[in-house]
Amino acid sequence: MNRIRQLSPHVVNKIAAGEVIERPASVVKELLENSVDALATRVDVAIADGGSELMRVTDDGEGIHPDDLPLAVASHATSKLCEAADLFQVGTLGFRGEALASIAEVSRFVIRSRQADQTAGTELEVAGGVYRPIGPCGCAVGTSVEVRELFFNTPVRRKFLKQSTTEFGHISEQFTRIALAHPRLHLSLAHNDKPVYELPAVDKLVDRIALFFGGELAKQLIWVESEHENVRVWGYVAHPSQSKANRKGQHLFLNGRWIQDRSLQHALGEAYRGLLMVGRNPITFLFIEMPADLVDVNVHPTKSEVRFRESQKLYRQLLSTIRTRFLGMDLGSELSVRGRPAGLALQPMPTKANPTQQRQLQEDLVSWVKDQTRDWGKPGFEPVYSDPVYRVPEGVGDMAAAPAALVADIAPAVPTPLDHSRWDPPHEVAAAHSSAPLSAPQPAAFGADIRAMQIHDAYLIVETDEGLTVVDQHALHERILYEHLRKRVLDGTVESQRLLVPQPVELAAAEAAVLREHADVLDQFGLCLEEFGTGTVLVTAYPVLLSRHEPTQLVRAVIEAIAETGRDPARRDLLDSLLHMLACKAAIKAGQRLTTEEIESLLAQRHLIDDAHHCPHGRPTALVLSRQELDRQFGRLG
Ligand code: ADP
Ligand code: MG
Repeated sequence: MNRIRQLSPHVVNKIAAGEVIERPASVVKELLENSVDALATRVDVAIADGGSELMRVTDDGEGIHPDDLPLAVASHATSKLCEAADLFQVGTLGFRGEALASIAEVSRFVIRSRQADQTAGTELEVAGGVYRPIGPCGCAVGTSVEVRELFFNTPVRRKFLKQSTTEFGHISEQFTRIALAHPRLHLSLAHNDKPVYELPAVDKLVDRIALFFGGELAKQLIWVESEHENVRVWGYVAHPSQSKANRKGQHLFLNGRWIQDRSLQHALGEAYRGLLMVGRNPITFLFIEMPADLVDVNVHPTKSEVRFRESQKLYRQLLSTIRTRFLGMDLGSELSVRGRPAGLALQPMPTKANPTQQRQLQEDLVSWVKDQTRDWGKPGFEPVYSDPVYRVPEGVGDMAAAPAALVADIAPAVPTPLDHSRWDPPHEVAAAHSSAPLSAPQPAAFGADIRAMQIHDAYLIVETDEGLTVVDQHALHERILYEHLRKRVLDGTVESQRLLVPQPVELAAAEAAVLREHADVLDQFGLCLEEFGTGTVLVTAYPVLLSRHEPTQLVRAVIEAIAETGRDPARRDLLDSLLHMLACKAAIKAGQRLTTEEIESLLAQRHLIDDAHHCPHGRPTALVLSRQELDRQFGRLG
């Protein structure tokens, strides 16, 4: 056994560097924290090659006294702490006095600094822990630290650096945390001489959030605030319609320091319980302020984990702050419009939006419509209806006639009609009227020659002369309805049903205007609307094909389909867009079990997919596997 020796400062610093400096982003974090502690109002960060070549952080803070410069880079030397008791009163981001020493140990390091009362700056260069003599230099008031070739003298660690883009991603994350915690700090970040962020000082946190995470999220933020026994919690939580698959959206700051805390993350999860789907995490920007002696920040070398003296209390405060706010908001009714980015309906149509915004909005709308319609018709799915006006007195109207007639018309040569009434809604209509004569279903034109089965409640496998075809049931039905509806619209013979009690739909003024503008086209689809005061339209009649859909949602989907078509759409494009949307909505969905008759009824129309192998959205409707290919694959040929 060797005798015990005191480790040299180099070795000590290298060990410390291993704990504090994990990767380039750790350097940027430490340097930014030092600038904040030095009361800088502006900090510029320049990075080259993901930080592995260069990281330079320049601030306009207090600077370092020339005589102190060597101390700044010495280990366990700090201006932020005097005695042990101070450890429990930490009011700065740094206090351990080992960051600069660690960094200078594992890089080529230069620090230049000048205090306001000095005429010139002072410079100190350290390469791999070896100091050069300090000397004067030209330099603005403040401090600039340059770190080149990180880990150049610890090759194993240098080899572990990831790709430049990955490392820069981590740097960017650290930069974002500081920027969120300090909106009044002017910050810039450049990578390989290209500006990435230029953030002038702002008064409001929400402006920074919008900059980093987009205006859409910023609009969905809910302000929360509470104070309890010297502990203040404030900030923004996102509406539950905004969520993330991981916890990266959970930004938590304690006394200006970004922290990670399992218990508080759990509290956030609890606050959103029942409001988010399983596997989704809330997005939050929360700030906790408490007297420094209520928390121990000296738990972890990177100071991102802390220990609260009264963690249970804080847990409860955080939970109740958010929960109380949600309760006061009647969030439930907003959420009943499932999946819709809340607030969307309140926004005017994007007439003046730029193309990217418009595209984004359209995408949102489309995904909302998809979400809205996904479960409709699934067994056990019950749409939420607010109003029982559709309950029609017994004997009024002839519900049976509509679906039968409709299907007879679509598929005249089908033995048993596709029973649309299976997916009919709880609301009913007064009467169905059609300008086209109703024809009775006709006998089967096929039978034994089609052999088909449904799999996964989504696909139909069909044996054909050539081999086999796999049909997407939704895509095929959509195609059928599309052709049917298009013919009807062009002939002016769409079946429309009058509502016994017209259904009012509340809209933004701009949305109502869009409907007004295209009223004649909507008429062609059998959707009749009347103005009813500002922002409200009355649905008086709507297409039989859509009878299982709730009129309010239908009107909204129509508005969105119009928005999708873009500004001032040509009549033809608008018709087409509405045709697609309505056909998609009316079609059976994946996930619906079909009876043999229904399968046959669908497949009787499959010539529609034989000549057009794509649904109106461009997805394939059928895949073909030839007999020859099967034989080849099984080695039966030759
Ligand atoms: P700590 O921040 O924990 O004190 P550091 O190693 O990060 O330790 O910094 C050592 C000391 O160097 C600080 O206490 C501070 O006095 C000085 N210092 C470092 N960076 C700056 C800066 N950007 N402006 C002014 N002083 C600085
Ligand atoms: Mg520091």
